[in-house]
Amino acid sequence: MTPSFAVGDIQVQRIVEVAQPFMSPGSMFPEATDDDVAAHRHWLEPHALCPDSGKLIMTIQSYLVRTARHVILIDTCVGCGKDNAWFAPWHRRTDAGWLARLAAAGVAPGDVDYVFCTHLHLDHCGWNTRLLDGRWVPTFPNARYVMARAEVAHGEANPNTVWTESVAPVIAAGQALVVDDGYALDDQVWLEPTPGHTAGHVGVCLASNGQRAIMTGDMIHSPLQCHFPDWTFRHDFDPRQAQATRRAVLEDACESGRLVMTAHFPAPSAGHVAARGDTFDFTYLANA
Ligand SMILES: [Zn+2]
Repeated sequence: MTPSFAVGDIQVQRIVEVAQPFMSPGSMFPEATDDDVAAHRHWLEPHALCPDSGKLIMTIQSYLVRTARHVILIDTCVGCGKDNAWFAPWHRRTDAGWLARLAAAGVAPGDVDYVFCTHLHLDHCGWNTRLLDGRWVPTFPNARYVMARAEVAHGEANPNTVWTESVAPVIAAGQALVVDDGYALDDQVWLEPTPGHTAGHVGVCLASNGQRAIMTGDMIHSPLQCHFPDWTFRHDFDPRQAQATRRAVLEDACESGRLVMTAHFPAPSAGHVAARGDTFDFTYLANA
């Protein structure tokens, strides 16, 4: 079980599904050259770059957020049984270890009050649903699932297996809370638009007792992008917008000091950002 950390009075814990070498920098970021990567190998290896395979080490995970009022999950990984035929390791997975790790953190599916979706990609909303008697049903029977309106509109207009298996059943069950820009659950948890990776991508902001954090979803994929913030991810919906959003969020993190909780950086995944010329340094949170 991963240790928890605090944002003021809010308790946060990562619930990891997998952490492993995933893709080479060049296959993830088309702008990356071998020389760029070589210049940063000394700090990337072995934590963020696998010396054997040359692939970036990535985490697929959720953040479990406990405020005084609510039990919240931010994003829900790949899940089990989902049709991800394009990527064999994620196709109809049978490993339900993520649910066991959630239970080990003291949370049963019925305890979750809110599921916040940064965006509706396969590795962020898989556990939204599970297969029960041949039907996809919400995994969290008492939760409202918070999704940005632009993201839902795009999914509805372009339905794929992620939509039909992991999103549409939540809407059909009446558990979706489709929200506009500026949505706030309360004074401790709210959404911030971070468009580019997808049409309606959002960050989930936390604040308590003067401390602040943002869970950034796929605004950024690897600590290497702190040094190359203009590199775009191969599958960004709007690469130029994603670039502008990434710079804006990283600059804000420098100025405000708020904690950045990333979706995919290697453990402990969360940290603080400092300016380094016109790029950035990322310092991982200690004891997280
Ligand atoms: Zn992702």
